[in-house]
Amino acid sequence: MNCPACKKGPLESSEHVELPKTLLCPYCQGQWIQASRYWSWVEQHGANLPEKPAPEQVWQPIDSHRILLCPECGALMMRFKVGHGVGFSIDHCSACGGIWFDRNELEALKDRNLHDDIHFIFSQAWQHQVQSQQNNALYQKRMEQLLGAEDFLEAKRIKGWLSQHPKRSIIQAYLTNK
Ligand SMILES: [Zn+2]
Ligand SMILES: [Zn+2]
Repeated sequence: MNCPACKKGPLESSEHVELPKTLLCPYCQGQWIQASRYWSWVEQHGANLPEKPAPEQVWQPIDSHRILLCPECGALMMRFKVGHGVGFSIDHCSACGGIWFDRNELEALKDRNLHDDIHFIFSQAWQHQVQSQQNNALYQKRMEQLLGAEDFLEAKRIKGWLSQHPKRSIIQAYLTNK
């Protein structure tokens, strides 16, 4: 089975601690997980691990428009944004269920305990949440540009205080009353 990304040569069997067995490309270090290996690993793995927070809440989507062909069945693979503060997308073959990770992507997911959520990442619910997180991040950025960093921070603080306040509807009415 040849590497779908760099196409330089065949993938080689590779074992990992606490991760499914993969087929590794010795040239670009990308990794392929066959569907059957992923699912048997999920079954043995036990309870789902709680997600670990991102080291910094910076949204850095890397949108590569590259489309890969599945190394196993030749179908076009789809790219799925991981979201949750992770900046990359992973490639999934919906025909055979295989998953492609570029160099270090699988390890990056493991650092966040997202390596046992990979099948959820391909779900509509997950992708919907990623999209609204992304929209929200863009909205926040736009507001910051409009208000300036300092006033935006103050507005956020007031908004947070107001949202927790038991008399927020009265305060809101007062604020908008001319
Ligand atoms: Zn490769
Ligand atoms: Zn496939």
